[in-house]
Amino acid sequence: MELRGSVAEPARQTRILGEYDVVVLGGGPAGIAASAAAGASGRSTILVERYGFLGGAGTAAGLSNFCGLHANVHGEHRQVVHGIADEIIERLKRIDGINAPHASLGGKIQAQMYDMDAYKLVADELLLACKVKPLFHAIGAGVSMRSEREIDAVLVESKSGRAALRGRIFIDCSGDGDLAHWAGAPYELGDGAGNMLYPSTKFRMANVDPARAAGARELIPKLMEEAEKKGRVFPRRGAIVRPQRHPIEWSANATLIKNPDGSAVSGIDVEQLSYGEIEGRRQCREMFEFFRSEAPGFENAYIVDIAPQIGIRQTRRVTGEYRLSERDILGCASFEDAIGVNGWPVEAHLADRVLIKFAPIPESRGFNQLPYRMIVPRRIDNLLVAGRCASMTHDGHSSARVSGPCFAMGQAAGTAADLSLKAGVAPRALDVRSLQARLEKDGAYLGKDL
Ligand SMILES: Cc1cc2nc3c(=O)[nH]c(=O)nc-3n(C[C@H](O)[C@H](O)[C@H](O)COP(=O)(O)OP(=O)(O)OC[C@H]3O[C@@H](n4cnc5c(N)ncnc54)[C@H](O)[C@@H]3O)c2cc1C
Repeated sequence: MELRGSVAEPARQTRILGEYDVVVLGGGPAGIAASAAAGASGRSTILVERYGFLGGAGTAAGLSNFCGLHANVHGEHRQVVHGIADEIIERLKRIDGINAPHASLGGKIQAQMYDMDAYKLVADELLLACKVKPLFHAIGAGVSMRSEREIDAVLVESKSGRAALRGRIFIDCSGDGDLAHWAGAPYELGDGAGNMLYPSTKFRMANVDPARAAGARELIPKLMEEAEKKGRVFPRRGAIVRPQRHPIEWSANATLIKNPDGSAVSGIDVEQLSYGEIEGRRQCREMFEFFRSEAPGFENAYIVDIAPQIGIRQTRRVTGEYRLSERDILGCASFEDAIGVNGWPVEAHLADRVLIKFAPIPESRGFNQLPYRMIVPRRIDNLLVAGRCASMTHDGHSSARVSGPCFAMGQAAGTAADLSLKAGVAPRALDVRSLQARLEKDGAYLGKDL
């Protein structure tokens, strides 16, 4: 964002809306799991979310698909993220809101489609069951610090005005590392040369003829290739077009949002975001017209939903005590301080294509462990960072940013907050064995047996 000078704001006293053991910023998979784990441990917990619903990119950016819950373990598909993720899946099953896992990326891995409104409902129910207080329509806007290394309160803006939420431990699940950034924790952006993963705007089509569209997942990328040979230029090469829970509805991941200079639209630049929203919707329309005119079964389809927001894959990655790397992903790394696992391959969204890299199949166990150190940021003592803004290299992030590992990191962060408070130590000084024992007791899989 280009700055054009500054104005002076009057100093002010900000009223305190509440004091909590644990304050979580952001209600995506990481924030849902973090707050549920802290709340279920008996900690007074508040979850601050700028929208009026939970799910993060999984609902607000229209994903409708859990990646990273499964791994290809020596050639066999297996669910490897458990714990709170299981509870969400079970609740979704109860209201008929989730499909059986399906083959993804050429059958090398599985993913699982869900109904997005069902996900919003079960996330509400889960948090209420865990006695978490959700604070919707509140955007985190800054922090007040107790000392250089300790956060005192998160400042939120809402229709009710500005307010402070005091906490003992804070968990940044904003996806963008907002809270860590305000507190002064170090972070990285992009690949070091200014390139971030490219965002996409997703949309859903309704009134698709399920029988005639049956082969569309494979056919549509081929139709796009043929059109490209005749000179057509699409926003990106290839498209992921999939039936939803009810196959008269299909979702499309077919756009790629660049700034006019070709760089990725930044999710932490409000002017670029504004440009990107309009460009994303324009691309949705362009791609929809192509599907409707070329793909059997889509002739009478219409766009039922363009995701409420552009889907941001990558912004800040908050530097922790360890950075998960591509080498760790492809080498199925083990860590003494494992708090969960990730089986998703490297999925890099580049300027013109999506680059996928798997750990060797079937030779490898197909997942890496996630070390506790990646959710413990440097410099700030009462902060944990879970989800896509946790500590990873640019390439490592292309894998461990998806929902499965975000659930695992979130559960570990919420549990670590409880145990740290119990032990009277900062999260970085927590005895990791006690955390591992609690996570396993609570159903999480740490991948120690393979
Ligand atoms: C186009 C696209 C397609 C994808 N496809 C898949 C897929 O099919 N399957 C999959 O598993 N993953 C997919 N991903 C990746 C996945 O969505 C995310 O990486 C994952 O949702 C990250 O979870 P998170 O909890 O860390 O953050 P997010 O899901 O980004 O959630 C962050 C939450 O914090 C809130 N928030 C942020 N800042 C503030 C603030 N200052 N104040 C208040 N609230 C705030 C946001 O509103 C949001 O609800 C995709 C991503 C994109 C962009």
